[in-house]
Amino acid sequence: MMPLKDKIALVTGAARGIGQAIAWQLASQGADLALCDVQAEWLEDTAAQAKALGRRVESYALDVVNAAAVTEIVARIVADFGRLDVLVNNAGITRDTLLVRMTEEDWDAVLDINLKGAFLVTKAVAKQMMKQRSGAIVNIASVVGLTGNAGQANYTASKAGLMALTKTAAKELGGRNIRVNAVAPGFIRTAMTDKLAEPVKAAMLKLVPLGRPGEPEEVAQAVAFLASDAASYVNGQTLAVCGGMVG
Ligand code: NAP
Repeated sequence: MMPLKDKIALVTGAARGIGQAIAWQLASQGADLALCDVQAEWLEDTAAQAKALGRRVESYALDVVNAAAVTEIVARIVADFGRLDVLVNNAGITRDTLLVRMTEEDWDAVLDINLKGAFLVTKAVAKQMMKQRSGAIVNIASVVGLTGNAGQANYTASKAGLMALTKTAAKELGGRNIRVNAVAPGFIRTAMTDKLAEPVKAAMLKLVPLGRPGEPEEVAQAVAFLASDAASYVNGQTLAVCGGMVG
């Protein structure tokens, strides 16, 4: 089964974690890849494994908050591959602390990368997809954007905003046959969650009916589905991949 055969997919934040798993899953389902992260050399592992699957893979240095760079790199990707069928806005960070201790810099850094970055890349890619009259965009949100989470005012606001951006973009772009959806992961085993204190991890796991953290590959499967024609009538939705943590 190669549901993404001959599709060209751009994945941001693809050097590790969920972004890396998404890149590999899309490649295993037939997609060629434009991999982006802050530094291109960080993408070597991701690129090597995707190439081993027989796919064309190019790596690009892209900080998603740099508007000029976003425009330039998306144009270069379109020149290199000739089209763009799938965008996965995955790049994201946390700067956790209680609201009353949160600095303006903590707030801005998270909102800039998680929300403004997705806006900038979506805007640049949507222009190309509108010309093609087809495309699929998948935004990586989070279940805490639905529930709120103490210590994550900046992060939860960014992810709630990303889900709203998903709905609006779906309404604006649907007429050009471009679908925009989100995946909201729960507690997934990556570097982002490894750094949490053990009691915090234990408390989060108690909220998961499946009783275990998710794996990046399990998020990637959902992303691949939404990116594929199998989801041809799914638009403006958020799919929670959280082991039942959020009902
Ligand atoms: P991760 O392991 O920290 O990976 C995030 C990737 O994004 C890293 O390669 C990172 O590069 C890159 N990145 C950071 N800032 C960037 C920027 N300005 N421009 C381009 N790339 C940038 O995190 P993850 O756990 O895989 O998370 C991936 C996505 O899933 C994020 O949007 C996150 O919010 C979301 N998510 C994760 C979980 C979870 O449990 N892990 C749950 C819900 C949602 P650096 O090396 O510079 O950091």
